[in-house]
Amino acid sequence: MIPSTIRNFIEIFSRLPGIGPRAATRLAFYLTELPTHTKEELARAFTNLDSVDLCPTCKLIKDGAQASCAICKNPTRNKNVIALIEKPTDLLTIEKSGHHKGTYMILGETPQRGMVSELQKKRLEELKARIQNLPEKKATELIVAVGPNTLGDLLYEHIAREFGDYTQAITRLGRGIPTGGEIEFTDPETLRDALQRRL
Ligand SMILES: [Zn+2]
Repeated sequence: MIPSTIRNFIEIFSRLPGIGPRAATRLAFYLTELPTHTKEELARAFTNLDSVDLCPTCKLIKDGAQASCAICKNPTRNKNVIALIEKPTDLLTIEKSGHHKGTYMILGETPQRGMVSELQKKRLEELKARIQNLPEKKATELIVAVGPNTLGDLLYEHIAREFGDYTQAITRLGRGIPTGGEIEFTDPETLRDALQRRL
């Protein structure tokens, strides 16, 4: 009953985060009715993403033409204080709070089954190399900015075990973030308090 073009669209779009088969179906019908030039504009927005890649230092997305992201490039940001976060959206929320003057390392999300992922291990190795390139060969502080939940605890403990020789201090975000809460959805004021009251 549904043409194969639409079925194919639904199949592909259902794989995207936050979009299930129902939303993909609705999207397919909606897009079908749009004028060709609007569809072309959307398609261009997708292909243009190809020109974006990851900052080699912190793994935030950056413009392909730039060597590093705006934060790593900024000489006023403290390279010795590094916030370790799971997702780029966590970084955006922390930036909005305006209370982190250091830099970042995006590690990727901790898998639900509760172990440090291969990507996280790889990024942590890269972080060690990055720290060894600092003038002091040691960071001043690593702020493990993960949610106060079981998976966050797991990642924090792993980092605390691995980075003792690489930093003067390892801290976690302080009180304020509800237990089980997520950084991404924390309002800037709460996050500011948590950044100020690190553990
Ligand atoms: Zn960067």
